Amino acid sequence: MAMANEDEILEGFLCPICKADLKSASQLTSHFESLHSEEQDVLRSLKDIFGKAKKIILNNDDSDLKETFDRALKFSYQEHRYLDEEQSIGVSRSSTDYLKGVRSARLERYATETNKLLIRLDKLVCNMPSDPNQRKLHEQEVVPWLDGSSVKLCPNCAKTFNLTRRKHHCRLCGSILCHDCSLFLDINVARAIVDPSVPQTSNPPDHETTEKNGLRLCEHCYNLIELRKQVQETRNAKTVLVTAYEQMRSLMDKARPDVAMYEKMCQSLFDGETTYNLTDVNKMRGRIGKLAEGIDLLSKQIIAFPAEPGTRQARLQTAIRQAAAHYIKEDLLSLRKLPTEAQIEEVRRQRYEKAERQIQMERERMERQRDRLEEMAGPSASRVESNQDDDDNPLLEQMNIIREYIKEARKEMKFEEVAILETNLKELKKEYHLQKLSNKS
Ligand SMILES: [Zn+2]
Ligand SMILES: [Zn+2]
Ligand SMILES: [Zn+2]
Repeated sequence: MAMANEDEILEGFLCPICKADLKSASQLTSHFESLHSEEQDVLRSLKDIFGKAKKIILNNDDSDLKETFDRALKFSYQEHRYLDEEQSIGVSRSSTDYLKGVRSARLERYATETNKLLIRLDKLVCNMPSDPNQRKLHEQEVVPWLDGSSVKLCPNCAKTFNLTRRKHHCRLCGSILCHDCSLFLDINVARAIVDPSVPQTSNPPDHETTEKNGLRLCEHCYNLIELRKQVQETRNAKTVLVTAYEQMRSLMDKARPDVAMYEKMCQSLFDGETTYNLTDVNKMRGRIGKLAEGIDLLSKQIIAFPAEPGTRQARLQTAIRQAAAHYIKEDLLSLRKLPTEAQIEEVRRQRYEKAERQIQMERERMERQRDRLEEMAGPSASRVESNQDDDDNPLLEQMNIIREYIKEARKEMKFEEVAILETNLKELKKEYHLQKLSNKS
């Protein structure tokens, strides 16, 4: 709000009689009182229309609406006669179109006026001095107070001003009113309205907003601000709801590949592979559990959101929660059980024995081959001795590098990477093993 330029908003303070643009409500009021003082009942009926229309916006009361626009129409005919006396009898026009016109122009004027008030509200609550006298000066600097020396009655309740019924000013439009007609807007509430980053403070139920902790407003200004507050609250609530939903979706998106990975890791353990260990798979299970908790929490927040029962919004919230609960139960909490340490031990032993047998067979096959070669070459043939120092074996070095990589990937729970690296390591081991065999021979 602080960024908005007051000059940009030109509408909102047009004199209803001569259409002069007066820039501020106080200027309009003084202009009206000095130039159109004979039109006091027009002013009254205008105020009446405004008051009714506000009520309509707040309550959606249709019967009131009709009455108000009947009046508006009547007033406009009066105005028309006043401005254009030569109008002949018998001219007809569509009341509906006219009403629509009046209505949209009026609603637009409310928006413009509200924006104007919000700019003032921002200036009022920003750097408001705590000292009462300083504060009064600050308030009048933002909104000049109407000179009430000639005002004898409260314009709202028409009661006479005297020693006990003193004149007060609306801090947003500067107009005069009595204390009984004043409404107070809590300053902290005002701060939250002009700056949505300020957290909304909820006051205790016995909290009373007075002149000290609130801004004195006329009913008209108060209702416009209150209406804006309601719009803002609805919008904020929607934003929070959408954010919660998006967070929940993103957790679900994270959970999906994790579940697939978990199944794969689990299967690998059952197959007796050494690619993953039990700790890895448990970590993965823990991570999925955390995601499930998050999804559960967010979906509970979503369903706890205030919504009128029976509305589309309420049904949507219920559906989201149900879908989330179903997803958690069916996909995240029904994960396959892990094999026990003993089961893993057993399959691994079997695999190891099978591998050992294969290696033994390989060794025997190579020995037979070597014997055949020796027979063919004769006894003079010397063996090719491996004088390679094993520590310098590039294969060992590579294997160590890969082991380091695996450690890193495990720590970061990048199990796809672990799997690839483990395969590489296995291949290197095999190659190294074959090299040793051929060197021995
Ligand atoms: Zn005028
Ligand atoms: Zn009053
Ligand atoms: Zn006011």
